[in-house]
Amino acid sequence: MADKSYNAFEMAQSQFDRVAKLLELDEATKELLRYNLREYHVSIPVRMDDGKVKVFRGFRVQHNDARGPAKGGIRFHPMETIDTVRALAMWMTWKCAVVDIPLGGGKGGVICDPHNLSMREQELICRGWIRQLAKDMGPIRDVPAPDVMTTGQHMLWMLDEFETIHGQRLPGFITGKPVGMGGSLGRTEATGYGVIFTVREALKELNLPPGDTTASVQGFGNVAQYAIELYQQIWGKVVCVSCWDQKDQISYSFAKKDGIDLNALRGITDHFGGIEKDKAKKLGYEVLPGDAWIEQPVEILMPCALENQITPETVKKVHAAVKFVVEGANGPTTTEADAVLKDRGIYLIPDFLANAGGVTCSYFEQVQSNMNYYWDKDEVLGKLDSKMTSAFLAVSELARERKLYMRDAAYVIAINRVAQASKDRGWV
Ligand code: GLU
Repeated sequence: MADKSYNAFEMAQSQFDRVAKLLELDEATKELLRYNLREYHVSIPVRMDDGKVKVFRGFRVQHNDARGPAKGGIRFHPMETIDTVRALAMWMTWKCAVVDIPLGGGKGGVICDPHNLSMREQELICRGWIRQLAKDMGPIRDVPAPDVMTTGQHMLWMLDEFETIHGQRLPGFITGKPVGMGGSLGRTEATGYGVIFTVREALKELNLPPGDTTASVQGFGNVAQYAIELYQQIWGKVVCVSCWDQKDQISYSFAKKDGIDLNALRGITDHFGGIEKDKAKKLGYEVLPGDAWIEQPVEILMPCALENQITPETVKKVHAAVKFVVEGANGPTTTEADAVLKDRGIYLIPDFLANAGGVTCSYFEQVQSNMNYYWDKDEVLGKLDSKMTSAFLAVSELARERKLYMRDAAYVIAINRVAQASKDRGWV
């Protein structure tokens, strides 16, 4: 996000342009889909705990809603930019389309660092963001959800503000709510588990038993932790994780050759996914530089943190043993680095397919909230597995048939669906 040479929106547009050409999309459709339909820039004044007012900048971008209401998370990050939010909104459109749920794409963000904000200040940011946007969002218009550094508690404050403004209970307005307050069982696990549902299917295709594989994971937040949990349940071994150290303001990697102990690491991790370095050392972890996760001699790399992580520089460090990369994060691989992975014949499960479990479960949550009847966890996870598996199989079949790179195959399916919906509506 901070890197000036990298622009996520340009990257998202160039990925789109390549596939638009392949699909021979007409000019109007291209013009429509390579930009966002609507975007909002808001200012949020907050009286801080010290009595002074601080103004935060926030965004909401709605990329496309031809297939259904815009859908996507809201992030809190000190380096947030409008171009990152634009890219993420566009990726949400493709994500919802590739798993074939009746939703469009949107994304939001506020430039702030929750590490340095009290709960009261965070609550006021949530409420302020909603007050500015309440007329432009809603359960059948644009539906937010958690993302980087936002949680169920933030969603509940936003819902409460939205409902207060509208004078009604509208639990379908937002997803990722706490269970018992309109949330769905399985939503917390959904993104990470979804990543592994696709890994499981890919391993079958590659004839690799999961128990014979090792993985290295970037990130130790919600997506990474649940991806590791399910990967270990299918007998995979994680030998390295990396995360941001708030105190030192750099990342570290934590390696353990005989496999990390997920629960022990969780016990020494803050709620932003930061692992306590000294305690990890005491537990026998080797503490390495932030990029070490990418150099590990493993079969699988799982970038599950932020965008712009596998870059022309870091991709050089990818070990010869690596057979595939599964993108749990949104946009972790730059266009140049992607070309290197492709040349090296590394199998890829692209972000908007691999991490679609979160929004798929959000869709299930919305359905449950709207009918005010909630499924048990097995039912939710079973439905999630079948959605993710069929989306993965459709993409891999197309990739095989048309000899496409997996990212391009996923794009072909998603863009075709959105282009068709826009055409059917008479927009283009
Ligand atoms: N923030 C998640 C994503 O990037 C989930 C979005 C949602 O549930 O709407 O996919």
